[in-house]
Amino acid sequence: MFSETLAATAYSYLKTMNQMEIQKKKTEIISAVNRLKKDLITLSHNIHKNPELGFNEFKASKWLTDFLKKNGFDVKTGVGYLKTAFVAQFPKGPKKRPSIAFVAEYDALPDIGHGCGHNIIGSASCGAAAALAKVLKNNSGKFLVVGTPAEEGGGGKLPLIKSGIFDGVDAAMMIHPDIKTKVRANFLANVQVRFKFYGKTAHAAASPFLGKNALDAVILTFNNINALRQQLPSDVRIHGIIPDGGKRPNIIPAFASCWFYVRTKDKDYLPALLKKVKRCAQAGATATGCRIEIEGDDNVYYPMKHNNAFEDIFRSNLKFLNIEESLAEERGTGSSDIGNLSQVIPTIHPNIKICNSHPPTHSKEFAQVAISPLADKGLISGAKALALTGLDLFLDPKKLKNVEKEFLERK
Ligand SMILES: [Zn+2]
Ligand SMILES: [Zn+2]
Repeated sequence: MFSETLAATAYSYLKTMNQMEIQKKKTEIISAVNRLKKDLITLSHNIHKNPELGFNEFKASKWLTDFLKKNGFDVKTGVGYLKTAFVAQFPKGPKKRPSIAFVAEYDALPDIGHGCGHNIIGSASCGAAAALAKVLKNNSGKFLVVGTPAEEGGGGKLPLIKSGIFDGVDAAMMIHPDIKTKVRANFLANVQVRFKFYGKTAHAAASPFLGKNALDAVILTFNNINALRQQLPSDVRIHGIIPDGGKRPNIIPAFASCWFYVRTKDKDYLPALLKKVKRCAQAGATATGCRIEIEGDDNVYYPMKHNNAFEDIFRSNLKFLNIEESLAEERGTGSSDIGNLSQVIPTIHPNIKICNSHPPTHSKEFAQVAISPLADKGLISGAKALALTGLDLFLDPKKLKNVEKEFLERK
């Protein structure tokens, strides 16, 4: 009896000591990020001023990996057969557990530049990892920064997952800039599909009866999809563009194409939904007498697999940093390949507020705020919250165990 009491007292003493040690390390983490502040803001601004499209983020990838090398990380570039992807790890040497990955994104949007603020994502993840490396040094375990190209539609994380980059990694995280701070990210499953229509040219006024109008097939596809919408669940989003719609009004277009994203909350519903969309295009081809080619649907983005335990750790660190989380209802959401990663290992993707206005993401207005003083502040706060969450998972095995347990139990 006596020895049991003694053991319980000793355990509680050790637990308290561990918590005290963690609190002390947390203040060290904050100082470490503060010391990196200048470098991180420079990284973010340089990436912002040099927007690069998915799979072409050569400058961003170099700047981020140079920073990581300077901070003692072992860097491998071109991983997963992607030239602008990278894996940086600390400390050098063989794999160790626990292993925590910070995910970096750094691609921009055509014409809009950093209208999704990915200049902040890559920099925050590198800052978090570098701060942890400074504070924990050669503590058992590993931190990784995984540079994942082309989040905007290219699905760079998919080949990285496939090639085993995340094997043996216990948890992954990143932050995304937004108009509000919110820990839970909800994403829709998303699949891309392109329809190409092949018709026949003819003079549009003199001999239209000799032609087959490929553009009409495209227009019918849009109209058919619009007719379909009424019969679809409210979470479905289908939206497209017309990359090819003919050359001159006086030539019946022999070739036209359209490109759609098809999204829904339920990834298991996606194949049935896609089938309906394809039927809309096939009907357009039938009506116009054009031949149709269908491309795509191999690059599927999955929805986020949530992890309350993991989200709560991040939430507690926001509190530690005096950052308020927005409780407002989600108005709408997009899709991200981080959803695919969340199906493989426990993953979080919190949003961090970078402005007081409400510009839509994927706009020039959002690109402007992504380089503002508030964005710099969001970047530093994000790096801190990520690093503190990493520290919790590292030094408190019970927390990591809870995250793993929930991951295995949740479907
Ligand atoms: Zn985006
Ligand atoms: Zn984004």
